Amino acid sequence: MANGPVRVRFCPSPTGNPHVGLVRTALFNWAFARHHGGTLVFRIEDTDAARDSEESYNQLLDSLRWLGLDWDEGPEVGGPHAPYRQSQRMDIYADVANKLQDAGHAYECYCTAVELEARRDAARAAGKPSGYDGTCRNLSAERIARYKAEGRPAIVRFRMPDGPITFNDLVRGELTFTQDNVPDFGIVRANGAPLYTLVNPVDDALMQITHVLRGEDLLSSTPRQIALYKALAEIGVGNGTTPQFGHLPYVMGEGNKKLSKRDPEASLNLYRERGFLPEGLLNYLSLLGWSLSEDRDIFSMEEMVATFDISDVNANPARFDLKKCEYINATHLREMDVKDFIEACGPWLKAPHAPWRPEAFDRAAFEEIAPHAQTRLTVLSDITANVDFLFLDEPVEDEASWAKAMKEGSDALLRTARAKLGDADWNAEALKNAVLAAGEEHGLKLGKAQAPVRVAVTGRTVGLPLFESLEVLGRERTLSRIDAALEKLAAA
Ligand code: GLU
Ligand code: ZN
Repeated sequence: MANGPVRVRFCPSPTGNPHVGLVRTALFNWAFARHHGGTLVFRIEDTDAARDSEESYNQLLDSLRWLGLDWDEGPEVGGPHAPYRQSQRMDIYADVANKLQDAGHAYECYCTAVELEARRDAARAAGKPSGYDGTCRNLSAERIARYKAEGRPAIVRFRMPDGPITFNDLVRGELTFTQDNVPDFGIVRANGAPLYTLVNPVDDALMQITHVLRGEDLLSSTPRQIALYKALAEIGVGNGTTPQFGHLPYVMGEGNKKLSKRDPEASLNLYRERGFLPEGLLNYLSLLGWSLSEDRDIFSMEEMVATFDISDVNANPARFDLKKCEYINATHLREMDVKDFIEACGPWLKAPHAPWRPEAFDRAAFEEIAPHAQTRLTVLSDITANVDFLFLDEPVEDEASWAKAMKEGSDALLRTARAKLGDADWNAEALKNAVLAAGEEHGLKLGKAQAPVRVAVTGRTVGLPLFESLEVLGRERTLSRIDAALEKLAAA
């Protein structure tokens, strides 16, 4: 694909919680790098001290580690272009900004906000382009001296070259931006702080990035960055080549609106807390703009890496579908080795997730029931409610379940069932026959006959297969829970 090794970057700003759009960008860069045997650079764009936080930085690292998206250069692993946190590279940016000015690619702009706004309004009223109008492009030395004497603050602006900018987007094909749409833009604030518009392409150049894969929301900054790249090449910053750009499609949420960082279903932490598997979540996120093949939506990350090609990414907006995300996760759960599944359940079987006393947990009982749970879970956190009947002293009290299962005649049925269960061999098959026979005596099919038994023993109307559950729970506890239910019915 590229001449020479592929180098891509994932370069989030550490603000707020990681969200699924960010993860999708990381995933596509990772898959692209791995597919081409290239390098994934992880860079932290933390030049906005007011918005960036250390907590968010730590979360970013922790999230990528959890997902298994490993990086080759960046925080904690280092690399030839260190440091990889932009907050530690300020000298580099100041130096480049000076060089750009010396070479005439950038200039000081003394326009005040009020002046800019007045001219913008006038341009709009006249039906002309309303971007920066180039007022300070060629200020005389006298004028500059006067502004300085007045103490007017100045930002540094990049001088856009004349003519349109055309590039071949790896996802969207050829795109052209006319000059009117790309006016000269600020690269350094009046207080000397460099802006994203400068630091992002400077680091891409210095880190010799070959492909920029990022969200469509950044498409409008691409022509500026391409122009800046050319200028950087002229002044000898970087190796002189411009990366290829590929803009990943928007992700739409509820009501066909763009999924926003603030939408609750966009938060990565939510998926972690619910117990999604990294492989399940990544599998789903890969489908936001890409597919392995028309007839397969379940696959591993190895398969994605083997197949991923940026030119197969679809430019149309992708729709975030939570139900499908859950379905894909459930499928990955089912396909796990049962040993791995048991391992993965670990955190959900302890405080703060598990409601039982820690010493009441019985690993052997859990391992026995686990295969039945594995086929029924959507997310790992579901495990707790499915097995709590084994480890709680009493079944949970769920009034709605009780009301639904305990009907007129349930006490008679439960008494018969108790007697037959008491006589049965303690295995699922025999237990089923016992409840079946009890139901027959009362003119009830198995489904109707087992409902009160299930609620008496587990507290809930839904759960794992009943007879396997009873087998693991054991004779004594099963019978005493039925007795307790009978007492409760008698008292009602
Ligand atoms: N720090 C930028 C962001 O978080 C990176 C954009 C880019 O990939 O160029 O949006
Ligand atoms: Zn100006």
